[in-house]
Parts: sequence; C-alpha cells; structure tokens
Amino acid sequence: MAKNTKHCSFCGRPESQVDFFIMGQEGAQICNDCAVQAAEIVKENSSKKTNLPNIKKEQVPKPIEIKEYLDQYVIGQEEAKKYLSVAVYNHYKRLMQEKTNDDVEIEKSNIIMVGSTGTGKTLLAKTIAKKLHVPFAIVDATVLTEAGYVGEDIESILTRLLQVADYDVKAAERGIVFIDEIDKIARKSDNPSITRDVSGEGVQQGLLKLLEGAVVNVPPQGGRKHPDQKMIAVNTQNILFVCGGAFDGIEKKIALRLNTRVVGYTAAKESEQVDKHNLLQYIAPQDLKAFGLIPEIIGRLPILTYLEPLDRSALRRILTEPKNSIIKQYTKLFDMDGIELVFKEEVLEYVVDKAIEFKLGARGLRSITETIMMDEMFEMPSKKEKELTISLPYAQSKIEKANINRLKIA
Ligand code: ADP
Repeated sequence: MAKNTKHCSFCGRPESQVDFFIMGQEGAQICNDCAVQAAEIVKENSSKKTNLPNIKKEQVPKPIEIKEYLDQYVIGQEEAKKYLSVAVYNHYKRLMQEKTNDDVEIEKSNIIMVGSTGTGKTLLAKTIAKKLHVPFAIVDATVLTEAGYVGEDIESILTRLLQVADYDVKAAERGIVFIDEIDKIARKSDNPSITRDVSGEGVQQGLLKLLEGAVVNVPPQGGRKHPDQKMIAVNTQNILFVCGGAFDGIEKKIALRLNTRVVGYTAAKESEQVDKHNLLQYIAPQDLKAFGLIPEIIGRLPILTYLEPLDRSALRRILTEPKNSIIKQYTKLFDMDGIELVFKEEVLEYVVDKAIEFKLGARGLRSITETIMMDEMFEMPSKKEKELTISLPYAQSKIEKANINRLKIA
C-alpha cells in the first residue's frame, strides 16, 4: 500500500474506492460501507440481548409498588388497580418461570375490566404501560367490528404490539395488549334492532385464538393496504391481554341475575346487601355471557374486575390531585409565560357541578375548564399582568355564554 494513500482500517480499500472515511485516532479510519456494516452488527447483537427472556427479579415492581404508581395518576378504582397490579406482577413471574424445573406451570391470567365510559379504563392501561419494562400496546376492538369477518384484521391487533416493540418479535411475545371497547364485539343477535351482526361472534372466535396462545401471522404494517408485506410469525402464548369495555346496559343483566337468585335459600341475606346504585360491583362471568360474549372468550379472561362510577368527590379530586391533573396543566401553561394562575375553590366546585349537570363525567372536566380559560389563554400572554385569579362569576359568565352542545362533543 502506498504510504500516502489512506485506506479503510477494516476492509483495506483505498480512498479512491470508497465515498468517504470516518476518521479515528492514530491514523485509523473506517469507510462508509464498513461503518454501515458495523452499525448492522451492533443492532443485531443488541436486539439479541433484549431477546433474552431474562428479567431480573429485582427489576420487577411488586404489586403494591405498581398500585402506588397508579394511585398518582388514577383516582379511586381501588379494586381494578389491585387486580391489574397483581396480574402484571404475575405476568412477570410467568415470564421468569422457565428457570424452575418442577411441573407447575403458571397459566396466563388475562383480565377483563368493566366500567362505564370515562371512568379510567384507558387511563389505567396507559399509566401502567409507563411503569413496565415489556412492550405495551393499546388497540381498539371497534375497528375489528367494522372490518367484520376478514380474519387478518384480528391479527393486526398484534401489529401494534410489534411496532411498540420495534419489531423485536421476542420482546413482543412477552408484551401486554390492552383491547379497548371489547363489548363492541359482543354478539348482537339478541337485539332485533340490529340487523347487521357481522357476527361479533366471528370476531370473537378469531380473538379466541390469540387469547389462547397460538402462532399467528401478523402483517407488520397492519391493515390491508399493503397486500405484499411479508408476514411475521408471533407466538401469543406469553402475551398478556387486558380487555376493557363499558358494557352499556349490563347492569340490567346483573339485576336480573341477582333477582332470580332471590328464590335461593341465601336470598334474604344477599338481597339485603345489594347496592343498587353500583351494580357493576356484582359482575360475574355469566353477565358477560348474557351480554353477548361467547363462553370460550370469557373462559380465557379469567380475571374479571370493575370500575366504579365516578361520584362528585371523585370528580373533584380528579381535577387537582393526579400528578398531571387538569388544573396542574393549566397552571403550568400560564407559568411558562411567567403568570401565576389561581383558581378559587368555588370555581373548582362549579366545574364539577357542570360536569355532573351536563352528564359529561371526567372527560367533561377538561372541556368545561377549557371553555372557562379560553379567553384568558388568548389575551394574557400579551398583557403585562403577572397574576390571574379565576373567580366564580367569571367562570359562570364563560359557561353561560358557551354552547353546551359543544362541551358535550369535546
Ligand atoms: P374510559 O374508561 O372510557 O377508557 P378514560 O380512561 O379514557 O375512560 O378516561 C377519560 C379521561 O377522564 C381520562 O383521560 C382522565 O383525564 C379522566 N379520568 C377518568 N377516570 C379517571 C380517574 N379514575 N382518575 C383520574 N382521571 C380520570
């Protein structure tokens, strides 16, 4: 090699045969091609590392720790939080169980959470995802209904998980999937007003395969827009499924079941204790069946828990207590302009009152606050004042002027 010509320290090619060099120390250099190759080797090896199913026991958050974390963001819902924390912890244990050699195999405990819309199901799922060291995907079962009977769409539930796992199949195979609005794939044939039941049941059958544990061919880009894509085989055996749904009207089925039991010998005792305002707390697998889930699906979702309706005090707490509560977010927004924002206590009570009056639930807290704050958010950044107190008359004037229907949509 000529002394004055630079060569790649890896492949030995001279400067004339490569696009460029990246210079290292003491005359070493790497050509662009070798750099690309090196990057690929690094990527391959580091993904191999994450593929190892070794999760260290010390890294696994204990159920109480998981719940304490959820407590920072989600108000109330004690039972759902407890069930979810235990299920996630056991999921980790399942992933670690290969190391023992006895015959006891810990089975998967998929979960189903039932609770009215806006009571925190998705929030719970999203919050727990932040705490976990396994891939976590949130998917919506309504898209499955719309697409109907085309099987591949069910597999696309796993597309999301693959994407979250950066297409690391081994990591995805240990992940958790939250399927929202599972009630939307209930069988509707009991209901004569709905003619098109592209059989929720067909979709349920497809889902069953996933819940049971199977090797499924997943379209990496999802959907049917990319017919040529190469499928990726994903084994769902170790994937934990958490389902959530509002199951509107299921209270009637629960009430019916509780009433029919009145004939039984324990009747007197049980009917005395029934809290009619929160029937969901008595939910049992047979109610899900009455609602239209097939027994096989119910059997694959052995942990059934519920979310409480949010009462006045819960709504009031939601406004200010969570780590990223609505009020904290507005305070921060103004603080970024150097403005100290204060809400009078009666304004907070008023926001809660309106959310209840308009039947908007927790979601309404944000739209109501937004309506109250809009003009100030528009004007304050251009003003010199560095303090802003929101009073009750001011809040009332903004809400009274607002179009209530717009609040409802928000
Ligand atoms: P759903 O039960 O329909 O999935 P979400 O979790 O999406 O309801 O809740 C909607 C919004 O309402 C959340 O983003 C959150 O701001 C608020 N919210 C609902 N329930 C709670 C709760 N228990 N604690 C704190 N915020 C809540």
